[in-house]
Amino acid sequence: MKKEDLRKVSAVEDHRRLFKTLRYVYPVISRRSGGLSLGVNLNPLRHCTFNCVYCEVDRSEPLPFETKDERIDLDLLEQELKSLIEQAQSGKLAEYPRFSDAPELTRVIKDIAFSGNGEPTLSPSFGEAVERVGKIWHQLSQKPKPKTVLITNASCLHLSGVLEAIKRMHQFNGEAWVKLDAGTEEYYHKMNVSKVSFDRILGNILLVAENLPIYIQSLFLKFNGADISETELELYCERLNEILSKGGVIRGVQAYTIARPAYGPGADLLSGLSALELQKLAEVIRSRTGLSVETYA
Ligand code: SF4
Repeated sequence: MKKEDLRKVSAVEDHRRLFKTLRYVYPVISRRSGGLSLGVNLNPLRHCTFNCVYCEVDRSEPLPFETKDERIDLDLLEQELKSLIEQAQSGKLAEYPRFSDAPELTRVIKDIAFSGNGEPTLSPSFGEAVERVGKIWHQLSQKPKPKTVLITNASCLHLSGVLEAIKRMHQFNGEAWVKLDAGTEEYYHKMNVSKVSFDRILGNILLVAENLPIYIQSLFLKFNGADISETELELYCERLNEILSKGGVIRGVQAYTIARPAYGPGADLLSGLSALELQKLAEVIRSRTGLSVETYA
């Protein structure tokens, strides 16, 4: 199924990170993945270094389990991932009501993605989790094999062991989808509300772009009805060009907008862009950077 046709599938609206009794792994039909993505949630406690205005994680809700332990039960994660893969391949996943309008999409795993309810590289278990997922990836019989994807806000990529784990992902068809929503420190703090400096984020994006193919993921929205300014958009394009000129490899930009309820600070002041508005922004990014830009409105 083409990515544009996936828009019509109601299952793509459902990005719940809980599935049955599974704690760390969840299936979603993702437009950006082009089908079934198995999410690996390394933040069941919902910790993140950002507090993005558009975040879809509702941190005010009680946790569905009792623990304060940041560490991941890696044996359980491995067991859950194997079970979900088996359910996808046997056709059992197709039988769940959640996937009733696209059961055929549940049989082919497009990617296994470190994502979930916070920043995956913040987890002290990130490196070990990469190893476990890599082991399962090598055992997969599916041809072609899925990608493994790190979905990250780049804030922790300089921390000990993180880059080494990212480099390991090369061996199992890895790539990184890295968040960048701004061109200036001011707009970055407005969108992503973080204690991490913008310079640190830009330096870390370059670090990963030198070591693994990356896609830049950028969310565009309106605050109180106002679009991102022309100046901010130009400076955002400049940041991308700086990464490229320093040797970073960017495969493309995924430009998207608000698609589901947001729970960040001031979320009630936000609104999404129309498909046409997003296309116009994408055209500017293409013309200024030469990068391919896919839109998801
Ligand atoms: S959207 Fe922002 S705050 Fe929410 S999990 Fe992702 S990086 Fe963290």
